[in-house]
Amino acid sequence: MKTYWQNYIDGAWVDGGAGRIDVINPGTGEKLAEQALADAGDVDRAVMAAQRVHQAGVLSDLRPVERGRIVQAMGRYLLDHIDELAQVLTLEQGKPLWEARIEVEGAARYFEYYGNQAETVEGRSIPLGKDYFDFTTYEPFGVSAQIIPWNYPVEMMARSLSAALATGNTCVIKTPELTPLSNAWFANAAEAVGLPKGAVNILCGLGHDAGAALSAHPHVNQIVFTGSVPTGIAIATAAAQNVVPCVLELGGKSAAIVHDDADLAAFENDVRWGIYFNAGQVCSAMSRVIVHDSVHDALVDRMVGVAQSLTVKPGVEQPEFGPTMGAMVSESQRDRAAQMVSDAQAQGANVATGGRKMNIPGAFLEPTILTDITPEMTIANDEVFGPVLSVLKFSTDDEAIKIANGTPYGLVGGVFTSNLDRATRAAQQLRAGQVFVNEWYAGGVETPFGGYGKSGYGREKGREALWNYVQTKNVAIRLKG
Ligand code: NAD
Repeated sequence: MKTYWQNYIDGAWVDGGAGRIDVINPGTGEKLAEQALADAGDVDRAVMAAQRVHQAGVLSDLRPVERGRIVQAMGRYLLDHIDELAQVLTLEQGKPLWEARIEVEGAARYFEYYGNQAETVEGRSIPLGKDYFDFTTYEPFGVSAQIIPWNYPVEMMARSLSAALATGNTCVIKTPELTPLSNAWFANAAEAVGLPKGAVNILCGLGHDAGAALSAHPHVNQIVFTGSVPTGIAIATAAAQNVVPCVLELGGKSAAIVHDDADLAAFENDVRWGIYFNAGQVCSAMSRVIVHDSVHDALVDRMVGVAQSLTVKPGVEQPEFGPTMGAMVSESQRDRAAQMVSDAQAQGANVATGGRKMNIPGAFLEPTILTDITPEMTIANDEVFGPVLSVLKFSTDDEAIKIANGTPYGLVGGVFTSNLDRATRAAQQLRAGQVFVNEWYAGGVETPFGGYGKSGYGREKGREALWNYVQTKNVAIRLKG
């Protein structure tokens, strides 16, 4: 493994104006490598390179099917390099190797999907009577700035980069300072598929330095951000100063409502994936379960069984799919989650299982289930971003919806029942951008994803996301005679 990783600006690998940062392996607590840190000057060079390529029309003038083929080839490049890429992702992020491989496959799937979509962004003609010919077209914004979180660095970069390129934008991407290394493969992919120098620029830097410089840069035309609410507000404020649109995906406190007629055995699988996949560091994690009081104890027994069945160890020791969980991304994220568990206990929560830091090197937290949670507790409202599930009770359908909708967030929600009317009613009433019925994470790259409330605005995934990357132009022609 390389010990020093550079940034990729205007087709060249370069050092950073802000020096270097250590990248730590959260599975061991040891230093993995050093990463160049960009400063505002580096950001400026990257944005100007992207603007140059955009203004030259290199991508936007292509016939969309050609652009789509380039985008698809990038996905194939990632799959061709999955072994080395997944290994580095596991080492820097902490997730099991089998999860890292799923993440790389998911990233490739975005390039496949948006590569396919490139030639579907069609305009329309609007009738204005015999003296006019009028049509509407969609054009790329220009320079798309993308600020990436550390929980799924490969998949999140793929999500925005694939859609931005498919629609003919050029990109400047700021990678997360905790997990910047695996993003280097996107630069290699851009070169391999023949994108011109400056079309894709990838740099790591501190949020308040390079991140702030990128979001405030006057030649950025559109911003995509995934991360915390406070940072989202800072980025939206910077975007407002330059009057550019942004897409914000800011996490959640998403709830599954489990009715007395739900398939409790099947729900074990939803617990497994919903809160322990990626050690719960998922914006759409199932971090609350709101269960009917008649099945509460039976469900808690099952969920505790799931949590206790998981083996927790460094990601590189987990090559095969199975009942395993890795480290959290850093000791400070782990300590923050552990502290939230202690604070919840002080407010009356019962730790049904887990809750402790593990007594081994690395950023490990036991898979945790908290019961006796009531809606006003901090743990019922604040995002933990770790393997910690809060269980609340309800007795009427209305009460369940009220609890589910009772946080400032609204990313996703779920309802588990065998009654179709009840499921449909809940789907109507849940204030969330996506509702899962009888399977947490049902859907895919094709289904639009994004938040209500403080979970953000704009949509990622699906055809819906394409409209974030294009602006509408109407042309009205007065005909002679
Ligand atoms: P963060 O929002 O601070 O960081 C996310 C990204 O934003 C990083 O690349 C960071 O460098 C950048 N950034 C930070 N400050 C910036 C600024 N002023 N201008 C521009 N960019 C800036 O998140 P974090 O500190 O890494 O994690 C804190 C919490 O955020 C987590 O505990 C979790 O609750 C939440 N989070 C959510 C997601 C998600 O997928 N929704 C992902 C990561 C973190």
